[in-house]
Amino acid sequence: MIVRAASPGQSLIDVPGELCLGIWLCGCNLRCRFCHNWRIADGDPSVCREFPLEELVREVEIASAVATCLLASGGEPLLQLDAVIELGRAAKRLGMFFAVETNATLPRRLERLVRAVAPDAVFLDVKAPPEVAGDGYDPKAVIESLRVLRRLGVSATIRVPTYRELYESCPRYREIVAKAVEEALSAYPSARVERIWIDSSIAREPGFVNVLKRSLCV
Ligand code: SF4
Repeated sequence: MIVRAASPGQSLIDVPGELCLGIWLCGCNLRCRFCHNWRIADGDPSVCREFPLEELVREVEIASAVATCLLASGGEPLLQLDAVIELGRAAKRLGMFFAVETNATLPRRLERLVRAVAPDAVFLDVKAPPEVAGDGYDPKAVIESLRVLRRLGVSATIRVPTYRELYESCPRYREIVAKAVEEALSAYPSARVERIWIDSSIAREPGFVNVLKRSLCV
């Protein structure tokens, strides 16, 4: 099996308390305007290449000497579901914590992953307002993914990418974000919630914060 990914690397911040080997799978079904990983999401050949699955499994085996965790991220890792399942199985076989970061818009694939190799933790975004995620973002799919995780007993952390300057200055933006989080928690009440401050300087569309400001805050 061929896997399109960026070079595996160490990740100390994505999964609290774990030293992870991160594998960033290339390609994404969204084009979030705040995306920091947009080169990976777009499959940019300057950062993405094709790996035989066995090569990545070997990387996991080598990393397991020091790393406690395998993180499958992206892009959207569930677009390469079979590869994520195999990588997750390798991590579990090696006694590693297995975490997945997903945009949660593919609930059927998420369910197939969990049934094949239950991740120890899933981190997913709640994006609000929906236009920050570009065309094709369906908040109902994210709610469905949370229901899947709750039903199958998988730990979930909801990450909320947030423009700090709007959050501090714009009540309407705060309301929209709070409502989206409330809806997400109604699907999975014990999920953890983390705010991720967006760094517009490295975003796909650095100026989108001003578009939002004009539409919501004046
Ligand atoms: S933020 Fe995540 S879901 Fe959005 S484009 Fe980037 S990788 Fe894809």
